Amino acid sequence: MQLHLSSWPELDAYLARSKAILIPIGSTEQHGPNGLLGTDALCPEIIGRRAGDEAGILVGPTFNVGQAQHHMAFPGTITLRPSTMIAAMCDWAQSLTHHGFERIYWLNGHGGNIATISAAFCEMYRGVTFNEPDANRPPLRCMLRNWWQLPGVADVCKQLFPTGEGSHATPSEISVTYFGYPEAQKRVSMSPKVAPSGPIYDAEDYRRRFPDGRIGSDPSQASVEAGEKIVAAAVKAVIAEFRAFAAS
Ligand SMILES: [Zn+2]
Repeated sequence: MQLHLSSWPELDAYLARSKAILIPIGSTEQHGPNGLLGTDALCPEIIGRRAGDEAGILVGPTFNVGQAQHHMAFPGTITLRPSTMIAAMCDWAQSLTHHGFERIYWLNGHGGNIATISAAFCEMYRGVTFNEPDANRPPLRCMLRNWWQLPGVADVCKQLFPTGEGSHATPSEISVTYFGYPEAQKRVSMSPKVAPSGPIYDAEDYRRRFPDGRIGSDPSQASVEAGEKIVAAAVKAVIAEFRAFAAS
């Protein structure tokens, strides 16, 4: 069930049976020569929507631009400053709690978002802790889950890609997007086959170290079939975890 495709009376009916919602959250940033700019937003969206369809979970709009400053030397990348992202997340949450939601499960697709999402949660809880007049009511609980850390998912990825998984533009995440959007697949020969690894500083330094955008990965291994397996494992785990969180 998607919020975007629902009417307000349907939301009324959903709120009568559940106060929990799933929000996919990601980033719009370069993902190497064959990866989609939307990869980090699309992965949690593809997984979240399937979980929503299978289990009747309400899935909100995707928060699809995040912390991508270090990818800015590649065209197409869009980034928010941390303060903007925190403010926007707080406004989304306050709008939802205004309607009666009490649990927001943020399904994240981008490692670079983690610190800012955690900071946003502190801001959301602040008003309740300090009893501020404009505090979120009823008290809100948020949960952050990175999709690649869902129970069982890493095992599937390791089996599918014993080498060349790397840490950015991974064959696993590219496979998930190819499964969701097979028409957007790109076949690109890569050299070296496995990209270099190393630390990340600013955007220019990133492009010098990792000229095609990948870190430690060989995403030419990505396939629709692999994506289907990863998504199946992730959907199963999301449904179980969301239900437990909603009931907590
Ligand atoms: Zn990514």
